[in-house]
Amino acid sequence: MALPVGPTTLPMQRPPPPPFAPPTCGVCGEVRCADLACRHVAAQQPKMEPFAWRNFVAFQGRLIRERRARDRGRKENQRRIEALEAEESAALLERYRRDHPELPAEQVRVVDLPSGLSQLAPLPPERIARFRRRLELLIARAQRYADADAVPPDQHHRARARSLQGEALLAQQPALKSACEQLCGACRGACCTEGGDHAYLSTAILRRELDRAPHLTAEQLRDRYLAQLPAASIVGSCLFQSATGCALPREQRADLCNAYFCEPLAALQRAGAAALPQQLLVVQRANHQWNRFDTDARNAVVRVAPLALAPPPAATPPVAPGERVQSPPLGTS
Ligand code: SF4
Ligand code: SF4
Ligand SMILES: [Zn+2]
Repeated sequence: MALPVGPTTLPMQRPPPPPFAPPTCGVCGEVRCADLACRHVAAQQPKMEPFAWRNFVAFQGRLIRERRARDRGRKENQRRIEALEAEESAALLERYRRDHPELPAEQVRVVDLPSGLSQLAPLPPERIARFRRRLELLIARAQRYADADAVPPDQHHRARARSLQGEALLAQQPALKSACEQLCGACRGACCTEGGDHAYLSTAILRRELDRAPHLTAEQLRDRYLAQLPAASIVGSCLFQSATGCALPREQRADLCNAYFCEPLAALQRAGAAALPQQLLVVQRANHQWNRFDTDARNAVVRVAPLALAPPPAATPPVAPGERVQSPPLGTS
């Protein structure tokens, strides 16, 4: 075949696309950054002179990178501690099962619990005064609303829904409720240590108290709470945490208190009463619920004790319509 003669026209060729380069954050330098902090910094650029902007973005970028490194370190530490504790608890369970061959293996399960603080002391007057001031402020705010439904939603509203859900679940499964009460009793309120001088009370809960008893004056409602303060409280914990647990009746507590269960208890609740074994092996460690991952120091096992699950209390007689039910305090939390 004869070759074509003369100039040939080559088809137009497009330049190859550049290799895909995902966007890099101009603040922290990371690829595909979705950090709100970076966006907030970037939003300042149009308001600043270029020189000031360069210094600002360099400084803020460094802070953001340092914060991320700290977060990563914390998470790594948390994973390491969790893995170590899980291994330790599994070994303790294994030993317990070997020592008790009469118990079918599936009838004993380990539950890891933190430890509440234990030193008791009379409540210092300045703590009471701080609580009283906060209470007065919350009551004054609560009085501005017609009823609890009118209080703007916040995290307490979500806790209210969770608390009602939890109560309904435990009411249907008395064995589970009883197990949770026994475990909270053994733990002594390790989740109450951050209750400080506020006990997580909110405008919504005080408004609800006023809705329940509209005849109460602000002073009477305040005094109703102050009267519940224990004579001696656990040092370093919520001011309502007494030697026998929370001194505040359940219905006067914050929704956050009533809704909260630590993960081991939440796991029992997710599994349901039908999955409860005959015994729980309670492995209790030294730290409370909020300082478990704070240090590299070993969170030592301070107590290993079998807990035979008590049979649920006898069924209560039916409640007449309109009658108020006082729910008992749930363990120490
Ligand atoms: S819910 Fe609180 S009091 Fe109950 S076991 Fe967990 S940390 Fe302890
Ligand atoms: S449950 Fe009681 S002791 Fe615990 S934080 Fe709430 S009010 Fe305080
Ligand atoms: Zn960024």
